[in-house]
Amino acid sequence: MRIPIIAGNWKMNKTEEEALQLVSDLKQRLGEVTGVKVIVCPPFTALFSVNKALENSSILLGAQNMHWEEKGAFTGEVSPTMLLTVGCKFVIIGHSERRSYFYETDHSVNLKVKSALKFSLSPIICVGEKLEERDANKTKEVIEIQLKGAYKELSDQQAEKTVIAYEPVWAIGTGKNATPQQANEVHVFIRKFLSDEYGEEISEKINILYGGSVNPKNSRELLAMSDIDGALVGGASLDAVSFEGIVKSAI
Ligand code: PEP
Repeated sequence: MRIPIIAGNWKMNKTEEEALQLVSDLKQRLGEVTGVKVIVCPPFTALFSVNKALENSSILLGAQNMHWEEKGAFTGEVSPTMLLTVGCKFVIIGHSERRSYFYETDHSVNLKVKSALKFSLSPIICVGEKLEERDANKTKEVIEIQLKGAYKELSDQQAEKTVIAYEPVWAIGTGKNATPQQANEVHVFIRKFLSDEYGEEISEKINILYGGSVNPKNSRELLAMSDIDGALVGGASLDAVSFEGIVKSAI
């Protein structure tokens, strides 16, 4: 049985003060929630304070990116050990915004995934096709290439600790979400990839989240699908009431 995961990707939003206000609201609203893993991924500058504010709460902390090296001359980057010291348990890797605006590749995604696992951070690996790729009937081909890249040289034990987020690029921040059937078809395809690579038992343990304009109105239907095991939420995670609605629809 996979416990659903609802993860909020705050992107480049919330000052430290605003982040603390949101966390305080979330703790009040979600303090008693069980049967679902709730993760918040604030910007780097708020991780330290948010971690402290989350003490005695079941809400978990994640980062939005990291470098694969532990330390060194990488100006502007943040390492996996740095994330550990501020309480992160998860890290989003290969978000489509990182791939398109910051030129991340399947190779750098693989380096980051391996490094995250080495330091006991669970990577939330993002994959997803662009609109022109979907229109050209290339969705599965694109997803398979991204998966092969991300999971290159990962052992069974490592693969088991990963989380995948299927995020069709055309659905991110656009208000156009995939229909539950469209999304689930890709999730089933991803599970088959995992089963072929690592066997059915491991593939059944890996949470595959859907991301792309998830909100409290569409989340219940998406989360009811056989292979949708949670959501990676952007815009709607910035508001405590919307995020609460999504989290509660997963139970
Ligand atoms: C995201 O960026 O991961 C995302 C899914 O954004 P939104 O929910 O705003 O589409």
